[in-house]
Amino acid sequence: GDLLKRRKIAVLGARSVGKSSLVLQYIENQFVEGYYPTIEATFNKSIKYKGVEYDCDIIDTAGQDEYSILNAKHAIGIHGFVLVYSVTSRNSFNMIQTVYDKIINFCGLSSIPCVIVGAKMDLQNRQVPPDEGETLAKENHAAWVETSAKNNQNVGKVFELCLQEIEKRTPANQAE
Ligand code: GDP
Repeated sequence: GDLLKRRKIAVLGARSVGKSSLVLQYIENQFVEGYYPTIEATFNKSIKYKGVEYDCDIIDTAGQDEYSILNAKHAIGIHGFVLVYSVTSRNSFNMIQTVYDKIINFCGLSSIPCVIVGAKMDLQNRQVPPDEGETLAKENHAAWVETSAKNNQNVGKVFELCLQEIEKRTPANQAE
């Protein structure tokens, strides 16, 4: 039908992993070195996936650590989660499982539509190899991708995968 399907996507992760840069590259096609918005912002974008147009709200969250990262409003009414770590930060990678567990506990589910993103893949000082990211995603029934907001690599793919994970779990007849 011609129903516009509304989807809410929350982007979560440790401070400085590149969440805002990823969203900015996706929404505005630009990369600004040292872009540091510390406030939360929501962006609206229409995304076409498998011939269907989705009206998406992308929430760039401003949580700083594993305690403040998950606000109740980021778990209620959210259809899909983008959990971002930086491939140059082992700490940010270790935080992903903690955040994932918090979300599923909060939602009372065993899994959630989720994409795990290894950001800053263009950098040389890597601390997290790709196979560790991939394994973590498999263990949590999530999709996984590495990105560079700087070089615009796989940025669109993140949101495509997120819609894929959401739609996998949404029966067509209930996709309001
Ligand atoms: P946030 O706190 O998670 O929103 O992180 P930001 O998007 O503000 O990025 C933190 C820092 O990492 C900034 O200096 C960015 O310019 C830099 N950065 C973000 N993404 C990339 C990337 O893909 N490659 C490189 N080289 N730097 C990045």
